[in-house]
Amino acid sequence: MSSVHSALVTARSALSAVTDNASREAEDMLCHLLGWDRLKLFMENRTLLNETAAQKFEAMVARRIEGEPLQYLLGHAGFMGLDFLVRPGVLIPRPDTELLVEMALSHLKALEQARPSADFFKVADLGTGSGAIALSIAHYNEASSVTAVDLSPQALAVAEENVRRLGLDQRVRLIEADMFDFLAGAEAASFDLIASNPPYIPTQVIESLQVEVRVHEPRLALDGGPDGLGPYRRLAVMAHRPLVSGGRLVMEIGHDQAAPVKQFLLDAGVWEKVECIRDLQGNDRVVTAVKSRAAV
Ligand code: GLN
Repeated sequence: MSSVHSALVTARSALSAVTDNASREAEDMLCHLLGWDRLKLFMENRTLLNETAAQKFEAMVARRIEGEPLQYLLGHAGFMGLDFLVRPGVLIPRPDTELLVEMALSHLKALEQARPSADFFKVADLGTGSGAIALSIAHYNEASSVTAVDLSPQALAVAEENVRRLGLDQRVRLIEADMFDFLAGAEAASFDLIASNPPYIPTQVIESLQVEVRVHEPRLALDGGPDGLGPYRRLAVMAHRPLVSGGRLVMEIGHDQAAPVKQFLLDAGVWEKVECIRDLQGNDRVVTAVKSRAAV
């Protein structure tokens, strides 16, 4: 029988072949299996693991080494300080995407200051996946009423559990639809903000991504077509109609997509204040635009 400490040491050395975060990942997996928090793991690291726990831990470490993402093994991912359920079939929320949520929240705050008497602000999240963007917006802005759209029933099932866990069912509505069908069918001039982290990886590039992404995450959430820009071409000419005049579009982009995405928006002739914001690493990450007052 091995102790918690020695099991962690063995796991760490095995995991270091596949991740720079081997200690933390080993600890997270063992905490998950034992139902312990990290403090208990450190305080009780001489405890002997029983055979079943030791075997489960070894099996989980082996799956991680084969390339399964940690978050799928744990069933959870942190995003915006909240805990989201995730499993295969939904994209794992990325820390980079927090910038998109922060941009959305700061726009909503400005709206509230401009229109303090408004009851609520209508937000749509297109391609919601686990619901990370939609639910973070709803959680941090109590005046928001969010419609979260996804084509994938598996993703929506996860989003639905997350809505319930975060207690946001009064202000978040889930819709199973293609995002472009949703835009075409939505009532004109009804949303204050549209957010989206659409699939934006060029099809060919997906094969060169790490195994965690390439093999385990849903293609539907990644594949942006031959040049990765397909969703932006369509959003640029479709997302303005459901927005109110002066309403805002906020989209995540890949680090090398700012120029073409901004150009699609300018070419559409219905947007103003087209801007790109960089993330903390200095990469272009979010493009935003405002529906021009003249557009319908
Ligand atoms: N940021 C994701 C990645 O690096 C891609 C997400 C997307 O296509 N929207 O894999």
